Amino acid sequence: MKKLIVFDLDGTLAPSKSALDDEMAGLLSRLLALFEVAIISGGDYPQFQKQVLARLPAGTNFANLSILPTDGTKFFSYSSGSWQKRYSEDLSDAQKQKIEDALQQAVTQSGFEPKESWGERIEDRGTQITYSALGQQAPLEAKQKWDPDFAKRKAIQGILVKTLPDFAVNLGGTTSIDVTPPGIDKAYGIRKLRDILQIPLAEMLFMGDAIFPGGNDYPALQAGVDSIRVRDPEETKHVIEAIIACAS
Ligand SMILES: [Mg+2]
Repeated sequence: MKKLIVFDLDGTLAPSKSALDDEMAGLLSRLLALFEVAIISGGDYPQFQKQVLARLPAGTNFANLSILPTDGTKFFSYSSGSWQKRYSEDLSDAQKQKIEDALQQAVTQSGFEPKESWGERIEDRGTQITYSALGQQAPLEAKQKWDPDFAKRKAIQGILVKTLPDFAVNLGGTTSIDVTPPGIDKAYGIRKLRDILQIPLAEMLFMGDAIFPGGNDYPALQAGVDSIRVRDPEETKHVIEAIIACAS
């Protein structure tokens, strides 16, 4: 029997960097009445506030929800009426510089540097450096067209695994590449959930849109958690509906 349902955010619960729609917010709220729920994303905490927390209806059982920004290098939970940071593990300045230089170099070398971009491409998330190919303010439509089959990012990733052997390089969102310290990926977040919530891996179920080798959800599967690959948030809704029906 599963106790904890774990979700990726972008591409799984909502389109990239977008808020949950009403239907998804309602389903998550119903799920939280039955199970513990956790969300692990490459995004930082402010993204969770906008995309998820502000969208959940009043009366939701927040005590059952764990929020793990930047692949689980930060952990937030709800207690005494507000969201509390349990921990945050930041990169050093030297590590950040090394990663940013390698990203610039790999993008140039790959030949896939986009001609147009919206806002900064490289974002320092404290515990993680994220490259967004079209910039952080890029419209979703442009992002969805740029690399739908992950081919461009896999080429850039192929260069980075050689130039940044001491870091983990994963593909996420629709146009992004996440670089974290060694050993920090969704598997790390999964183990943090196990240790902090004291729930064994066998009692977790994970859902994500990038559960394939090189995808940023793949480490969750590799950690040994039963995992369901979803195509998009619409498919996730059907899976949540099935879980609620089976548990009710
Ligand atoms: Mg995703």
